[in-house]
Parts: sequence; C-alpha cells; structure tokens
Amino acid sequence: MKGKIVIDRERCKGCQYCVLNCPQKLIEIDDAFNTNGFFPAVFRDENGCTGCALCAISCPDIAIEVYREDKD
Ligand code: SF4
Ligand code: SF4
Repeated sequence: MKGKIVIDRERCKGCQYCVLNCPQKLIEIDDAFNTNGFFPAVFRDENGCTGCALCAISCPDIAIEVYREDKD
C-alpha cells in the first residue's frame, strides 16, 4: 500500500509524537519554526509511506492528513 501525508505546520506544536510513531521513520522536526514559534514536523520522504496513519492517530493537534493509493 502506498500512502502519503500532509502536515499542517501551523497547527503543529512540535511534540514529536508522529516522529516517534512512524514505523518507517519518514517524519522529522524542521529546523525552521512556524508562526507560533514551534519547530514543526515535516514529511521528508514519500517513498516507504504505507498510509498506516499511526502518525495522524498519535497527533494531539489533528495536524496530519493521510492519503492512501486506491488500487481500484
Ligand atoms: S502514514 Fe504511517 S508510514 Fe506514512 S508517515 Fe504516517 S506513520 Fe509513517
Ligand atoms: S504529533 Fe502532531 S503536533 Fe506533534 S509533532 Fe507531529 S504533527 Fe506536530
């Protein structure tokens, strides 16, 4: 299954839960802060994302949308 995510960097508070919970280690913390002064999570690499949604489920700020490839 192929997936991808979109992180809303302005909603993100940089808690790193998504970073820690991605089994593929595809999410990192950015080195530039957002308008609220937090260093947000960024999706670094679409290759390897399964669309498992563990990142989105673990986000307390509902800042991650998950998309999965539709095989049909
Ligand atoms: S959907 Fe799964 S594999 Fe893709 S970034 Fe989120 S936790 Fe990682
Ligand atoms: S879990 Fe949500 S709030 Fe925390 S770093 Fe990831 S996207 Fe940001």
